[in-house]
Amino acid sequence: MPELPEVETTKNGLLPHIKNKKVTAVNILFPTLRFQIPPHLKTSLVNKKLIDLKRRGKYLIFQFKNGDLIVHLGMSGKIKISKLIKYEKHDHFELIFNDITLRLNDPRRFGCVLWADNYNNHRLIKNLGVEPLSTLFDENYLFIKSDNKKTNIKSFIMNSNILVGVGNIYACESLFLAKINPLLSVNKVSKKQFKLLTKAIKTILKNAIKKGGTTLKDFANVDGELGYFSQELQVYNLENKKCNNCNNKILRIVQNQRATFYCKNCQN
Ligand SMILES: [Zn+2]
Repeated sequence: MPELPEVETTKNGLLPHIKNKKVTAVNILFPTLRFQIPPHLKTSLVNKKLIDLKRRGKYLIFQFKNGDLIVHLGMSGKIKISKLIKYEKHDHFELIFNDITLRLNDPRRFGCVLWADNYNNHRLIKNLGVEPLSTLFDENYLFIKSDNKKTNIKSFIMNSNILVGVGNIYACESLFLAKINPLLSVNKVSKKQFKLLTKAIKTILKNAIKKGGTTLKDFANVDGELGYFSQELQVYNLENKKCNNCNNKILRIVQNQRATFYCKNCQN
């Protein structure tokens, strides 16, 4: 599933190709996604110049003078960029800037393409929590938000109303790096632990984005496709493997219907 680093990498990869360019055509190939793609985009975006491309959580925000095109990659979405490529199965949406075509392909159809006058007011975005790489995200923020809550720390950092973009992989890896047990109740997490955790989350996301940058070289080619980069994982999906810190076995448990991987020895 595309996580924050993949979306950030997609944004960084697309922006130089399309910034300040005018949309020459919009094609809705197959409108059924998580929500129907608004049909008006076929006309309302033509001749509009792309002012900027931003990321908010895992949403890509294509900003035009008349409003914002909001794109989410869902579980399996990818944006391909190309000069001219053959259509493939699961192609849904195409944004054409003269000789550059952006095409959204999404086999599982959990993604979406939406329109808003201002993305910040959109119902899917307005209640989102802080960006993990922003200065607003620090130990004080988590400490205040954790007040009196008995939920476990892993679910807490994965709650997008508190913090955006920390999916299952990054939650497991960040808790390992910060040496915090994923089962720990948030009201028992100390400020010092929150400090280690915010630092761990930032480090892990930044490293993944840096890694993603190397895929950008391929991205600029014709028929370029943004791949999802393999990360150096310490615990995620490594059940029964030896912990790199202590040689104990990595455990797999289930929390809120999601698999959690951790080292009981290092994270206590
Ligand atoms: Zn360990």
